[in-house]
Amino acid sequence: MTTTEMLRNRLVGTWQRLARAAEEAGREPGSVRLLLASKTQPVDRVRAALEIAAELDIPVLLGENRVQELVAKAPALADLDPEWHVIGPLQSNKINHALRWAHAVESVSSLELAERLGSRALARERTVDVLIQVNVSGEASKSGVAPGEAIDLATRVAAVEGLELRGFMTIGAHTDDDDVVRAGFARLREIRDEVLASGAPGTDRAIELSMGMSGDLELAVAQGATIVRLGTAVFGERPKA
Ligand SMILES: *Cc1c(COP(=O)(O)O)cnc(C)c1O
Repeated sequence: MTTTEMLRNRLVGTWQRLARAAEEAGREPGSVRLLLASKTQPVDRVRAALEIAAELDIPVLLGENRVQELVAKAPALADLDPEWHVIGPLQSNKINHALRWAHAVESVSSLELAERLGSRALARERTVDVLIQVNVSGEASKSGVAPGEAIDLATRVAAVEGLELRGFMTIGAHTDDDDVVRAGFARLREIRDEVLASGAPGTDRAIELSMGMSGDLELAVAQGATIVRLGTAVFGERPKA
């Protein structure tokens, strides 16, 4: 099998898996968007995935963890005009590089970063979509604001000029216990619902729940995910660094 055939099979299979998960949750299949997490994947393979997705009419977003990788790949894919999301920690000195390409930053977890991002966006005469990353599992290895501080942070970020608060992102707990993973995703949904219900300025579009990866997308879709971020399910195992 060629790489292209492999990618096509995986993409079709993943799309069906997503549709099945939505159906089982009683949701419209089109209500969950697929973000391809392209970290460590060579740009040719990312291009092939985007072309196959377009051919199959599967709408996809692209996500990179590291701005360095975003900056390295984005120019070579610019003709396809993908919607890039930053999904990893963003350092202040990388904001301008990120804004050159990114439509959204899903990993905002401090007001300081939000304010810097907003002012750089304004300097470029644009706005940037942001999601608040919440560490629902409390695992020390994971970034994100603590769940107890997420509503306060979201309300403040929503008021920052240059930003559009679009929702919330999390990485599921690293455990085989589905109940624990499910509870974390439910927590993110509750945070979003509270922020939406608050009526605070700038919060009315904060509907997105970016949660679910290759190993736990069904659990995330059942809890209301609107974006699932998939790497290995589509690209196969990542090349070992
Ligand atoms: C790598 C990564 C993903 C995708 O992970 P897979 O398990 O390969 O699907 C999703 N979100 C973030 C933030 C990631 O770093």
